[in-house]
Amino acid sequence: MSSTVRIHWAIAPQIAPQPLINCNRCGGAKAYRCSGKFRVNANGKRIDVWLIYRCVDCDNSWNFGIFERCNRRDIEPALLQALESNDPGLARRHAFDVVALRNQVARVEEFPNVAVDKRLLGGARETALALELQLGLEMPTSLRLDRLLAGELGISRSRLQALEERRLLIVDPKARGLGLGKRLVDECLRFARDAGYSSMTLWTQSILTSARGIYQHAGFKLIAEEPHHSFGVDLVGETWERDL
Ligand SMILES: [Zn+2]
Repeated sequence: MSSTVRIHWAIAPQIAPQPLINCNRCGGAKAYRCSGKFRVNANGKRIDVWLIYRCVDCDNSWNFGIFERCNRRDIEPALLQALESNDPGLARRHAFDVVALRNQVARVEEFPNVAVDKRLLGGARETALALELQLGLEMPTSLRLDRLLAGELGISRSRLQALEERRLLIVDPKARGLGLGKRLVDECLRFARDAGYSSMTLWTQSILTSARGIYQHAGFKLIAEEPHHSFGVDLVGETWERDL
């Protein structure tokens, strides 16, 4: 009998990101909410598609560009049909594409609210010694992983951190190599740039080769190395830095 209880969490973000736009009707920076409707404009062979947003206060509209001056042949008929019929799933996917939204608007408000649907995959809670969680994320969310785990498991974030430090909380080796580390670094860089920082420094161990690879790829340079003794072994600590 397995001593591990396996549970799947289907995580669905609840509120789509809202761009903050200077509303030319009611004045001032206002949050705009996704209407779920596309605007498709065909001009000869060229197609423009926008997702329409509305000011939460005055209903004024703003268009989030999805396709601009796109050749009609490059859009699959099924996709065009989905756009023209305001397919809710398609609108939702674009509404949660915060990277594309940030490319068009300087300020975007994100919401950490998620709904978590839990399903038992195997094992018995009564006899379990370990919990294996499979996290399925429907859309990107700004909710931090530690907040999600602490909230749903009903334990404090400091307890969670202690579990991680003692390596009682681990990422399954099968889930490594999916680019989560790279995304985290990209997100940190974006945040630091937005916040006006001019450089970033980070610290790692020489043996953490995949982490080093990510930093190197992200433009960091190794500027210092220092041997130290931790976790019962001799290690080399490294300092990496890059301009933003
Ligand atoms: Zn307005």
